[in-house]
Amino acid sequence: MSSRLPSWKELPIGAVILEPGSSRRYKTHEWRTLRPVINQDKCIRCRICWSYCPEPAILEVDKPYVTSTNRRYEITYMVDYDYCKGCGICAQECPVKAIEMVPEVR
Ligand code: SF4
Ligand code: SF4
Repeated sequence: MSSRLPSWKELPIGAVILEPGSSRRYKTHEWRTLRPVINQDKCIRCRICWSYCPEPAILEVDKPYVTSTNRRYEITYMVDYDYCKGCGICAQECPVKAIEMVPEVR
């Protein structure tokens, strides 16, 4: 089998997006050592984690949730574990400490 590496002239130009949206294919969870877990009962739906996540890997989902104290929310914040890098910014910024970083288990 003969395989030839491309010469530098055949490589695509760096830092140029040739296909918009292609980053969706690059799932960035592989190097995560900690994963954020949202306590839905504690979460006050303030949206801060959603705003701060650099990926963004916090999803705002139209999914009602009723807490153990009978408080009803119409939205739920969830983590997209395909893209979350485990940086912990969301847990750091959550004003009610509803996000816990737990060891990743694969
Ligand atoms: S740990 Fe980092 S990448 Fe993952 S959801 Fe939180 S802020 Fe986003
Ligand atoms: S920052 Fe905390 S309280 Fe606010 S939406 Fe995210 S998990 Fe919920």
